[in-house]
Amino acid sequence: MDAFTQEMQEQLLKARDEIRAKLANEGDDFRQEAQTSSGRGDSSDLASDEGVYRKMEALNAMDARKLKAIEGALQRISDGKYGYCLQCGKKIPEGRLRAIPEAVLCVECKSANEKLGG
Ligand SMILES: [Zn+2]
Repeated sequence: MDAFTQEMQEQLLKARDEIRAKLANEGDDFRQEAQTSSGRGDSSDLASDEGVYRKMEALNAMDARKLKAIEGALQRISDGKYGYCLQCGKKIPEGRLRAIPEAVLCVECKSANEKLGG
């Protein structure tokens, strides 16, 4: 494994732990926020419990997706395929991986997929 891949692996492991901890604690945090935000008055979008729970659900879905992407990237590191596009096999630029360590698609394939709705 080269130094760059090792660096990305460390980042991915750290991000995975953070998301796991967050998903485990999120329910409690948001319940507390729901109780305290009603007295602050400066965050109108969190004014109702319903809004808070909807935000929590959206965040959970986002984190769960990211966690899956991170685990996929870690799997590709152990397979020795990290840094190459899952779809076309081209090398993903290091700059892109530094910005998004869990990226497994090059920019072209990613945007092609997004056009298809995935
Ligand atoms: Zn590609």
